[in-house]
Amino acid sequence: MYYSFYLNEQMLVENWDYYKDANWLLRDCLERDVTRTPEEKADYYLKHRKINPNNDWMREYFKSEEFKQLQEQYEQQMLDIEMERECSEDGMYYGRVPNKPRIVQTYEDMQGSSRRKSLRKRFEYQAAKNAKRGRKLRQINEVILYKSDIEFIKAETEKNRYTLKQIKILFGAVFFSRMHDVKWTRLGTEWKRKQFEACYDFTIRGDKEHNDYKAVNEVFEHYTDWKENTDRINVRTKWYYNIGETEFDWIYPNFDNKDEIAYIFKTTLENNRLDLGKLAEEVLPDIREKYCDRCGISFNPSSNRQKYCEECKQEIKREQAAERKRRQRNREKSYKTEKIKI
Ligand SMILES: [Zn+2]
Repeated sequence: MYYSFYLNEQMLVENWDYYKDANWLLRDCLERDVTRTPEEKADYYLKHRKINPNNDWMREYFKSEEFKQLQEQYEQQMLDIEMERECSEDGMYYGRVPNKPRIVQTYEDMQGSSRRKSLRKRFEYQAAKNAKRGRKLRQINEVILYKSDIEFIKAETEKNRYTLKQIKILFGAVFFSRMHDVKWTRLGTEWKRKQFEACYDFTIRGDKEHNDYKAVNEVFEHYTDWKENTDRINVRTKWYYNIGETEFDWIYPNFDNKDEIAYIFKTTLENNRLDLGKLAEEVLPDIREKYCDRCGISFNPSSNRQKYCEECKQEIKREQAAERKRRQRNREKSYKTEKIKI
């Protein structure tokens, strides 16, 4: 599912027309909004949702018997399943919403006003549930980064020779830790990783060959033997297993070291949608620096593949030339000796 991470969701809802994000996100935020009544939420949604382009063939299809059946089926599913949601302690939740038939979605968008009643019901139902569980809109207005955070990232990069992508991911994990003010960053489910990954404008590969997550991998475990152990673990873990989840947690070792403030991030209309890659470049000015594979000093590479600093590069070139000459001499020598033998 397409996702974008907003630091201040109240700001997001208030300024929905500025962002024009996906309709499901607007519904999802409105469900957790405590400033509006279900009535107001339904009106707000219908006024601000994105409307799909009107297609003539679709209009015809909506009148058909086939569509009516599909719609009935979906309504039943809505009642049975969609309202069942599981909520975690830190307010992130895992929706068990079945893939909504696209055609029903389009119908809802086109026939907006006639859906008002069911929308209102949905918000009413959700409000009662949220009140019980304490689910509300995320409202982060400020994130403070310390000097020790920057130093930590630099030291880890130097020690492990991280790539630009890996540095950005490590920065993101540190940022999440400071943002929630928790030592443990729980990226333990696919859903949470999706939220995290949505903060980057590049794809993150977590597999063994392209391990972009290497920088935050300390406690990353693939529970490959879960199959054998499913009988002994709790229901929730079992559920993760069933949908192919792997646990993924990161502990920030430098968490308690809150020294001098290095950077204060303030949420504004423009940066509300978190872009960690961009932010990393802003906060870490020497993010593009690399460490020489030979002498270890930092340098500014002219290309992504450059491994050595300028000095070592020249030295290596000289050494290679000398090596070539030496080999050539050896070849000539052996040729001469062979000649003499004959
Ligand atoms: Zn060097």
